Amino acid sequence: MSNTDYDVIIVGGGPAGMTAGLYASRACLKALMIEKMILGGQMMTTTLVENWPGYPGGIEGPELMMRFQEHCVEFGLETAYGAVEKIIDKGNSKVLVVDGRELTCKAVIIATGVIPRKLGIDGEAALVGKGVSYCATCDGAFFRNQPIAVIGGGDTAAEEALFLTRFASKVYMVHRRDQLRATRILQERIFANEKIEMVWNSVVEEFESDNSGLTGAILRDMKTGDTRQIMLNGMFVAIGVTPTTGFVKGLLALDDDGFIRCGEDTVTNVPGIYAAGDCRTTVLKQVSTAVGDGAVAAIMAEKYIDELNHSS
Ligand code: NAP
Repeated sequence: MSNTDYDVIIVGGGPAGMTAGLYASRACLKALMIEKMILGGQMMTTTLVENWPGYPGGIEGPELMMRFQEHCVEFGLETAYGAVEKIIDKGNSKVLVVDGRELTCKAVIIATGVIPRKLGIDGEAALVGKGVSYCATCDGAFFRNQPIAVIGGGDTAAEEALFLTRFASKVYMVHRRDQLRATRILQERIFANEKIEMVWNSVVEEFESDNSGLTGAILRDMKTGDTRQIMLNGMFVAIGVTPTTGFVKGLLALDDDGFIRCGEDTVTNVPGIYAAGDCRTTVLKQVSTAVGDGAVAAIMAEKYIDELNHSS
């Protein structure tokens, strides 16, 4: 048997990682979950989760994650905070470089999730915290009675636009097409909300700002090429996500957008390394699918470790 610090190390403490941790510790594996920032992942910046079964009326994202965490503690999951910089595959053992320190284990579950995609427009980085935001629940309250815009047409943009109507005087929802990608129920709520003005077929061309921060934006109509100026104090960018997989580039097979290539069995191209949740190629990114992945990955890791133990 190889001499390793842990049976399994789970990288990432969102719904997928915590579920993997719960299953692994309940299976009496020596498991460690490493989180870079805050347990709960994207759910910590989510408002009401309406599609988590068992909670009619919904549950707030952070509250749900607190319950996940308590459940992990109940089974004795060990948690550490740090940034995994690199994973080295040594066959029957894996070495994780965490903030310069090395940890070894037999199997690894990557559950690092995603981060919001940036617009990539000049001045964007400088305006973060001065009007530009990627998180309505974090920053929405700063824009009480002020005009703001939400960029994007997916579920996140729709949920953020609806949430922001609690604070803002007006919410422009700027979408590059003439049809939302968001689910029907969210679309109906968007169209019924008098505070939301849809700006179809449009993209942000330029930010306008002064010393105090964002003051407006120039939008370009994708069909006509015409530009339009809107005055606003806040812009919430919700144009999709980028996977947090840079640290496994060169080790794991990734698709063109950086998602870890694997199927429903969470098996990657490296034996003993599994990928769960939003960071892998998947047709649906939900808490429920992340949770399913976490459970599958932990069971796959358990089987792999069993075989490893019996073959040596
Ligand atoms: P998404 O579904 O990928 O939608 C991104 C949106 O941004 C799309 O409308 C897209 O336009 C637009 N977009 C992309 N790049 C753009 C650019 N450069 N400039 C302008 N617009 C751009 O991302 P998401 O809304 O963050 O959702 C991610 C995943 O999480 C999805 O699977 C979603 O269903 C899920 N989610 C679920 C819930 C829920 O169930 N309650 C809540 C939030 C998120 P096009 O439509 O033209 O492509």
